[in-house]
Amino acid sequence: MLFDRPIPIPMVDDLVHTDHAPFCSDPTCPCHEESVALDTVATMVEDGLLTPDEATRFVQGRQL
Ligand SMILES: [Zn+2]
Repeated sequence: MLFDRPIPIPMVDDLVHTDHAPFCSDPTCPCHEESVALDTVATMVEDGLLTPDEATRFVQGRQL
């Protein structure tokens, strides 16, 4: 009821999260559930800039 997941960490680390790389490699970081960033990736797939597989790796913070 109180905390069923780690305490959210504000996305203040601009060195990790940028417009070009909104997702870091830390799987526990809330950026991987950031809806705005996910929408951006979805748009990139629609525009043909990323394949769905690349988008998945991108969201997971892996190299393309
Ligand atoms: Zn992150």
